[in-house]
Amino acid sequence: MNLDLLAIAAHPDDVELTCGGTLLKMAQRGYKTGILDLTAGEMGTRGTPEIRACEAAKAAKLLKVSWRGTLGVPDSDVQPSRQHKLRLAAVIRQLRPKTVILPYWEARHPDHYHASALGYEGCFLAGLKQLPIDGEPYRPFKILYSISYANVRPTFVVDISAQYEQRRKAILAFRSQFQPEKREPKSTVHLAIDRLEAEMNQLAHHYGQLIGVRYGEPFLQKELMKVEDVIKMEVRSI
Ligand SMILES: [Zn+2]
Repeated sequence: MNLDLLAIAAHPDDVELTCGGTLLKMAQRGYKTGILDLTAGEMGTRGTPEIRACEAAKAAKLLKVSWRGTLGVPDSDVQPSRQHKLRLAAVIRQLRPKTVILPYWEARHPDHYHASALGYEGCFLAGLKQLPIDGEPYRPFKILYSISYANVRPTFVVDISAQYEQRRKAILAFRSQFQPEKREPKSTVHLAIDRLEAEMNQLAHHYGQLIGVRYGEPFLQKELMKVEDVIKMEVRSI
């Protein structure tokens, strides 16, 4: 399978929250997209891995992704170990994505910053001929870092105004994470659905405003952007 775009993240629902709009937008443009969850999210406070798998499948459908899979790394133990890197490299060789989205390399949750390193190193190793795994050597062309939760300046922002509603539905597909069970006392609710929605809205709105649109998703790339035509550059200065 040759994917155009693959988003890799630690837990099911990470991708929806950080770059779901961009995945949907690219699928709507006819690109083949995919999501690789490194873990099954089994350490989540609520729900079971089975429920989360169901929710992940529903969200993938809403975002029109062509492929979604789980690498099988234990939740809360994501790290760039040799074993995990080889497994990831094998998946990269199988999916052959042109562009990969990874989480930003600094985060509060260790799984998130380790996911960034594991993702990068897995992509790199996939290109080494002598690696003891199956498949033709392959390396993605472009790596983008999703920085929705990081306090850094993005390199660019994707306009997701037209995809925002559908992204919202994909996030809400992970209902078990955000809605307490009926018998659960109110005080145990860490992340109520109304708070999550307000936060999502605010972030997407903030980044949208920076490029003069309603909603946006921020990304960072380590390389510089190459520009051919400075007259056709978007986003007004004054
Ligand atoms: Zn996460």
